[in-house]
Amino acid sequence: MELKKLGEKTYVLLNPVNVGIYLLNDFEVCVIDSGSSKDYGKEISKVIEENNWHLKYIINTHSHADHISGNAYLQNKYHCRIFASKVESYFINAPILESALMYGAKPIDNLCNSFLMAKPSCCEDINNISIEGLEIVDLSGHSFGLIGVLTSDNVLFVGDAYTSPKILEKYQIQYTYDVANFIKTLDFLEQTNYKFYVPSHGDIESDITHTIKANKDNILNIEAKIEQLLLKYHSYNEMLNELFKYYHIRETVEQYYIVGTTIKSIITKLVEEDKISLSVKDATLWIEKK
Ligand SMILES: [Zn+2]
Repeated sequence: MELKKLGEKTYVLLNPVNVGIYLLNDFEVCVIDSGSSKDYGKEISKVIEENNWHLKYIINTHSHADHISGNAYLQNKYHCRIFASKVESYFINAPILESALMYGAKPIDNLCNSFLMAKPSCCEDINNISIEGLEIVDLSGHSFGLIGVLTSDNVLFVGDAYTSPKILEKYQIQYTYDVANFIKTLDFLEQTNYKFYVPSHGDIESDITHTIKANKDNILNIEAKIEQLLLKYHSYNEMLNELFKYYHIRETVEQYYIVGTTIKSIITKLVEEDKISLSVKDATLWIEKK
């Protein structure tokens, strides 16, 4: 893991899941997200030891397993306090909620593997503390209550508020809990002007115009494709089948639920915009354009 300095007190551990480190004082640090496995926890700990730091806090941008899976190891070792937005803290304390949200009932084993469900850790509401040098920014949309962390060095850690265009190209349909809010957050970020933006998955950039556009185009194109399909198909299952074929989505149980979340969120957006109506026909969700 390469430790890169982004400002007087701000560092990032470059990884498939980038991890932020902020110096609270001469020796105490706050870590931003803890990676996708216990090994991330061990690597973060190694860097902390090498620099004679002490881990005081972890802030999780959100509760997805690839951002919190180092939590349990680090909390056990350093007894650090962990914070997230109030709603995300529920999921971090009880990660089965993540899988249950996706499945809509007691989840099947496929949705409870380590990629989708982390070990529980004790997490508190970030609103109950103020940490000098750090500001919390609401970036919800990708998940219920995703937050960004802005450091005194003018560096914004954005979690999964957006992702790299390369990853978008590869996976086409990203998990999105609330598409309308996701777009609102992208519009907000477009108006900001920080020194560096650090996404969890992707490159550190100073100018995010191109990346924001790629993320917005991606989700708006999926929405447009759904509207186009609805001219011909009305059953949810048929429409989903066409989307899987069009975007070359792997037909696995996991993808069915991950991609299904984004599609259902787009359906919610279209209902809210009064563009479609829903009913049930032949035991499938029936979608009609208005
Ligand atoms: Zn995420």
